[in-house]
Formats: sequence, structure tokens, C-alpha cells
Amino acid sequence: MSQPPPPPTPVFTPTPDPLTPDRDITHAHFQAGDTVVVLKGAAGGELWGDAMRVVAPSWHTPTDEDGWRLRDATGGAQSYITAHPRSLVHLSRRCPDCLIYLRAMEDYLLPKYADGEAIVDCGWYTTTALGQLVHVADARSGS
Ligand SMILES: [Zn+2]
Repeated sequence: MSQPPPPPTPVFTPTPDPLTPDRDITHAHFQAGDTVVVLKGAAGGELWGDAMRVVAPSWHTPTDEDGWRLRDATGGAQSYITAHPRSLVHLSRRCPDCLIYLRAMEDYLLPKYADGEAIVDCGWYTTTALGQLVHVADARSGS
């Protein structure tokens, strides 16, 4: 019985993210049961991130706004985190709001990492000890 290979460790490459903080998306855009992705960087010429399932409404304390509790099937000790709606992109439905953001992120990010196969983590997100997913822009505005 062989173990599955460990997931590749992302290369950490700090890159600003001007798009996510400017996103105009409501809390009600998402609902429990949706499959979403939190974009974190690029890999092999595509956007890269963590796919998660929306579980329930939950207060996002870093921004003092309504957020969503998410379940990350590969999250290990932090399987449940709370994120702001701005951080989420629908995987389960193709809606115009999320597609516009996705396209903008592709246009912005992919030319920077066009020829790399490695996973690049742009360092936009951290998770607090209380399981709150914080975007770098959230952290700035909250201090
Ligand atoms: Zn959407």
C-alpha cells in the first residue's frame, strides 16, 4: 500500500491583489451548499486556489461584516473557516458576477506566471487562530 504523494508545496511569491478588495458582491450572492473557490495564486498557466463548500452564514470578524462558513475538505485542522463574500468565486454555477472577477484575475495574474508549472501562492490570505480567513486588504483596513 503506497501513500498518495504529498501535495506540492506552493512557491510563495508576494504579489499585490488590487481586484478582490474592490469586488462588489453581496452576502446573498452565495448560499449554503454552493461550491466555491478562494483564489490564491497561479499554477501551470491557470488560476490556483482552494475549493470549498459553503456551509452556513457566519460573522466575519476581521471586516465586521456578514461572511460565510466554509468547509475545506483538505483543510486538516482548519477544515472550517469563515470568509468574506469578496473572497469567494462560484464553482458550482457559472454566474456573470463571478466570471467577470475570474476573467479579471486571469488577465491580471496569468501573464506574470505564464511559463511556470509550479504552484505560486501570492500570499493574499492568512487564517486566524479562530478560523477567520483574512485578505491582506482586510487586515489593513481593520487596523
Ligand atoms: Zn457567483
